[in-house]
Amino acid sequence: MIQAERLSKLFPHPEGGEIRAVDGLTFHVAPGEIYGLLGPNGAGKTTTLRILSGLIRPTGGRAILNGHDVVTDLDGVKRSIGFMTANTGLYQRLSPRELLAYFAELHGMDRARGRRRIDELIDLVGMADFADLRCGGLSTGQRQRTNIARALVADPPILILDEPTLGLDVLTNRVIVEFIRREGSQGKAVLLSTHRMGEAESLCDRIGLIHHGRLIAEGTFADLQRQSGEERLGDIFLRMVELADANTNGVLEERA
Ligand code: ATP
Repeated sequence: MIQAERLSKLFPHPEGGEIRAVDGLTFHVAPGEIYGLLGPNGAGKTTTLRILSGLIRPTGGRAILNGHDVVTDLDGVKRSIGFMTANTGLYQRLSPRELLAYFAELHGMDRARGRRRIDELIDLVGMADFADLRCGGLSTGQRQRTNIARALVADPPILILDEPTLGLDVLTNRVIVEFIRREGSQGKAVLLSTHRMGEAESLCDRIGLIHHGRLIAEGTFADLQRQSGEERLGDIFLRMVELADANTNGVLEERA
């Protein structure tokens, strides 16, 4: 459902040269699968998700979502995905219910279907208490719930979530995690980025460890334990980073 093939993205460096934000990334996400991109700050997670959502163009490689190429068929991609990031702006003067109705209309849903879907989402994401208040006055958790409902209003087959639980309290965190699980179990392909080891471990069917824009390991949690010889995801990640850095240094020494 999501295919990223040797994807890369270079940004110009302010002091000259370039930043390799994404460097030859290949991974696939199947329908019904929850795939987590896990990596430190600056690893390239957000850039990857922005490419796959059609917000920025890759410098190289290819990405196909639900059969649509992000470069040549952006409309097809946009119809197939719901994209959520904590930074998505909400229209301050609309209520969550009005905002969802606006997006349902943008997606060409007829009024009755849109209303049914919105009622369903308000219930599933636990928005009943604030669905009719203005977005401008919502708390971080309420905004995040609204954001995730907005991404899902048209019921797309693919969900792309950038740090979906950033800054959330335990309760809201659980609501969002359960909701993501439910979407996966209903056959959606879910790609998310996270820093949270525990979340990646418990929520994701497969995890891609990303470092300096490269995928340094990939698999189920059990696969990663086997590959690294470590038990905990934090230790697995550190071990894989050490191995990747040793390989890169080896290549550089060979080249010198
Ligand atoms: P974080 O966990 O901190 O959100 P990330 O893994 O999402 O990090 P990205 O935001 O994708 O990482 O950034 C990867 C690299 O690309 C970083 O070095 C960042 O500074 C750089 N970068 C991202 N966007 C731009 C841009 N628009 N222009 C220049 N450099 C950028």
